[in-house]
Amino acid sequence: MSQADTQLPFLPFALPEIGEEEISEVVEALRSGWVTTGPKTRQFEQDFAAFLGEEGVHAIAVNSATAGLHLALEALGIGPGDEVITTTHTFTATAEVVRYLGADVKLVDIDPATLNIDPAAIEAAITPRTKAIMPVHYAGLAVDMDAVLDIAARHGLKVVEDAAHALPTTWKGQLVGTLRSDAVVFSFYANKTMTTGEGGMLVTRDAQLAARAKVMRLHGINRDAFDRFTAKVPSWYYEIVAPGFKYNLTDIAAAMGLHQLKRVQGFQVKREQLAQRFDAALADLPLTLPPRPVHAGDLHAWHLYVVRLKDDAGITRDQLIETLFADGIGVSVHYIPLHLHPYWKERYALQPESFPHSQKAYERMVSLPLYTRMTDADVDRVVASVRRAFGR
Ligand SMILES: *Cc1c(COP(=O)(O)O)cnc(C)c1O
Repeated sequence: MSQADTQLPFLPFALPEIGEEEISEVVEALRSGWVTTGPKTRQFEQDFAAFLGEEGVHAIAVNSATAGLHLALEALGIGPGDEVITTTHTFTATAEVVRYLGADVKLVDIDPATLNIDPAAIEAAITPRTKAIMPVHYAGLAVDMDAVLDIAARHGLKVVEDAAHALPTTWKGQLVGTLRSDAVVFSFYANKTMTTGEGGMLVTRDAQLAARAKVMRLHGINRDAFDRFTAKVPSWYYEIVAPGFKYNLTDIAAAMGLHQLKRVQGFQVKREQLAQRFDAALADLPLTLPPRPVHAGDLHAWHLYVVRLKDDAGITRDQLIETLFADGIGVSVHYIPLHLHPYWKERYALQPESFPHSQKAYERMVSLPLYTRMTDADVDRVVASVRRAFGR
């Protein structure tokens, strides 16, 4: 009897872990009458800065990581005529924000050992128009930030880290969010390592960047609504200094974030355990298992657990996915590289041959489910299905 004939319920690809504390805090926000940006968002920003544990770090809550990336690039003055370098092996949000500003995206290939942006490819893509680099900590494994920051310093470029997968991730013992970039953006989308439903956090040490992002987060108003309505001296007056955006986080979302943040280190421990269980149980198969941090002791956030079929696997990626689906297991592929999507491909006349490592990885990769609500038995069930695909 194949696994597909059994009655096991569908195992989703991702699920958030939301507890009674999050629920009570959300209810409290609803009862308080303050449902948009207010005291809970303030607290969430303070707690996030405290989590990073560095003096002088500004944490600016936004309603998505996409919004945070947009605000960061806008505050850095990126605009028409400028180029921003990022990896082709990412979600479109990383690159689309560059286009919002009328600047151009230079997509580059990955290092097949890490699946992260290849520093040598960054260096090769720099032109006189290049203004910034956007590294993405793919799956939760840190980019070689020494290399990226060194390139940026030598060429006078800004660095905005897409840390949507990277909470908590460390590079040489330092949390992503505390490295010497211009800005770092985290995502609290439903399937990320912590969630507020939708949400994000823009982190920067640059006071001017922070001030600009705060203004642009809310319509270009020179003070946010909370200040206006709670100032000691009643104040109705405000000024619009730019055509800003509507990117503020609600207190309903921040209420979840307050408690998710307290649990995020524990979530990482659980994800690490699940990843190790997968590693051990898949080690004898013709699979390239996910790369691990190069520096001992560094944290991998394990947003994703991505396996790649080796050349001698004997089955295709699609066959593996079909088996997993037939066994009632949700899987995904991260990502269909940007160079294959019609918009990016046509806009920049891109060819897969220019991105051999991303292309090869894409053709062989599958993201297996990995989230804190999974049990060891769930991991074993996924492993059994993978083994079945290989006829083992
Ligand atoms: C999820 C994700 C984003 C966007 O995050 P949102 O909060 O949904 O806007 C950006 N970049 C990467 C790599 C992501 O995975």
